[in-house]
Amino acid sequence: MKDKITMALAGNPNAGKTTLFNQLTGARQHVGNYPGITVDYKEGRFVHTGREISLTDLPGTYSLTAYSVEELVARDYLVNAKPQVVINIVDASNLERNLYLTCQFLELGVPMIIALNMIDVAKDRGIAVKADRLAALLGIPVVPIIARTGQGKDRLIDEAVAVAAEKWNLQPLDISYGDDLDETIINLVAEIEGEGFLTDTYPPRYTAIKYLENDDQIMARGREINPTAAEKIEALVSQVSVHLVKTMDVFPEAIIADHRYGFIKSIIRQGVLTHKFDTDRLYASDRIDKIVTNRLLGPVIMLAILFAVYTFTFSWSELPVSWLGSLISWFDEVIAGHLPDGLFKSMITSGIIHGVGGVLGFVPLIMFMFFAIAILEDSGYLARVAFMMDRIFRIFGLHGSSVMPFIISGGIAGGCAVPGVLATRTLRSPKERLATLLTVPFMNCGAKLPVLALLIGAFFTENKAQYMFFFTVLSWAVALLSAKFFRSTVLRGESTPFVMELPPYRFPTLQGLLIHTWERTWQYIKKAGSVILGISILIWAMMTFPGLSPNRIAAFDQQRQVVSTGFPADIVSETEEKRTAAPEQAAHMAETLSIIDGNQAEEALRNSAAGRLGMALESISRYAGFDWRTNIALIGGFAAKEVIVSTLGTAYSMGKVDTKKSASLGQRLQQDPHWNKGVAVAALLFIMFYSPCFITIICIAREASWRWALFSMTFNTAFAFILAIVFYQVARLSGLG
Ligand code: GDP
Ligand code: MG
Repeated sequence: MKDKITMALAGNPNAGKTTLFNQLTGARQHVGNYPGITVDYKEGRFVHTGREISLTDLPGTYSLTAYSVEELVARDYLVNAKPQVVINIVDASNLERNLYLTCQFLELGVPMIIALNMIDVAKDRGIAVKADRLAALLGIPVVPIIARTGQGKDRLIDEAVAVAAEKWNLQPLDISYGDDLDETIINLVAEIEGEGFLTDTYPPRYTAIKYLENDDQIMARGREINPTAAEKIEALVSQVSVHLVKTMDVFPEAIIADHRYGFIKSIIRQGVLTHKFDTDRLYASDRIDKIVTNRLLGPVIMLAILFAVYTFTFSWSELPVSWLGSLISWFDEVIAGHLPDGLFKSMITSGIIHGVGGVLGFVPLIMFMFFAIAILEDSGYLARVAFMMDRIFRIFGLHGSSVMPFIISGGIAGGCAVPGVLATRTLRSPKERLATLLTVPFMNCGAKLPVLALLIGAFFTENKAQYMFFFTVLSWAVALLSAKFFRSTVLRGESTPFVMELPPYRFPTLQGLLIHTWERTWQYIKKAGSVILGISILIWAMMTFPGLSPNRIAAFDQQRQVVSTGFPADIVSETEEKRTAAPEQAAHMAETLSIIDGNQAEEALRNSAAGRLGMALESISRYAGFDWRTNIALIGGFAAKEVIVSTLGTAYSMGKVDTKKSASLGQRLQQDPHWNKGVAVAALLFIMFYSPCFITIICIAREASWRWALFSMTFNTAFAFILAIVFYQVARLSGLG
């Protein structure tokens, strides 16, 4: 086989890069109808007519300046890794804006070919793009494709392979930027060429333009490698800058952008683009947007849609949740019936089945939630939510682009703060980014949902959907207010403008919806299977050992003995027929015995490692209404929030042996004297807002710093605790508790 060919896929956000990447490599990367999902680049391999090809999916960018992480990642990759050919994917239905990036690739002089994507969408809108004409004008191959169906991809790769054979010998595109700048560029290029300034990385003219555009990254590198030349170049630039501001009141960046658009317009006008319909005709998407993003109607529609998502998720999933619940209890009984009593059985049932089963039991609910979110995302509506929310987010010192991290973290409930924290990379301003990063853990992630469902189900049985809705709104309120608080104290600073485009509405495909739903659900299941399994066993061990001393066990045996001897022999005997002879006495004895069992189990739990820790904390946690068993669960929740439900399950099944063994955890909590509506809400508040789980903490540390990660842990926990105390005390005084 000949050498492998390296190709890179680049283009505007939402132009279809990932779709094409998946088509070519057979990978199943996340494809979203939402700008800014790919931040890191992904690599894939495939074989085309006997040649091995390695393909890199770069993050989507509108430009190649140093304004955002994506642009830097894409540009650095191109100049450092030097792929043999760049496949520039261009959205045919949005040609003019897409060519802006193409223009910059041409100026950079990368070997390139254009994949003219979404010709189906363009056609529906009455737009015809002449690929041959565009190819002739730009001097590079242009291949029309439909990434979604894979149409045209073979020819695309044929052409790309041909370009790759030509090596990096392309003449960079030379656009005129008007008299003033052109003259300065000539002087700059002379200086750059003379000094060999950055010429190993960029064409001289490109460096000159970047200096005029005020590119931080390139200017910093220049200063580093050749301070004297850099100083000279910067002086030339500021000279023309001052001149332009004085004569025309503009900065060079603006003139450069204007001329690039002029260049693109002139190309498009030369027979590249023809509209079949009137150009002022309202496209379907625009017509929908007139209503859906209307200032008054928009928010109402948005709230209605979000509420519909709730109703769908919580009412429709009820049946499958209960089916799975019965399946798990059946499994539990079968296993329990076949194992001899003892430590091993206790670990399997109390540790593993209750722990992992409690988490898996919510899988149907989470699937319904993810399915609903996938519809919003794939149809393009989610981007409208971001657009509308920008107005509100601005008030709190955040940015419209903060919406996606919030939603991913569980803004519509479900989701996870880990990808949410990573999604903040699309924010350009460091302060807005930090403010988003620190507040996304307040959202109701998928792991908190089971706790919400459990406590709301147990204490507010009627109006479940309404309560869920209320707690979601509350999580938003807390996140936004704390963002505002951060932005007016530790993260004070300017806000940046909103530049995200609205992708056209598309009808989601069933396959796409199912893939999205399954991907996210599978992540949840995997987490339940690995992390949660380990933690369930660890917590079970903490709750079991060191256990009671032989003396105490003997003392309880003694008590049982005493009770039994107090009754006639035929009742004590195990056989059912004889017991029926004196049913009342038998029941009384069984009850007394079970109370002794319960006391023994509770004393054992108190004596365990977890019990001791939980009790030590009780002296402060009681102000919020939490007893030592709740404390154990909250400690486990630091490791992963899923653990809270499972630990409560273990604590309450071990600590109190109920005569009705089948009572669910919810019912057990309802009957427990320590629990009431006041405690339930205080616990919910604490769980919603206390420290992010340790995986999130690690991500925050990686994305920001350990200082911010520790800040997040302590700030959130202190805040949540104060909130829980205030609520509990008020509830108690007003007679709720
Ligand atoms: P990226 O941001 O460039 O990676 O874009 P994606 O691959 O995530 O695609 C954005 C959206 O465009 C998705 O909803 C795709 O299903 C859709 N899409 C991609 N290519 C085509 C196409 O050729 N035709 C149509 N109709 N839709 C497409
Ligand atoms: Mg993508």
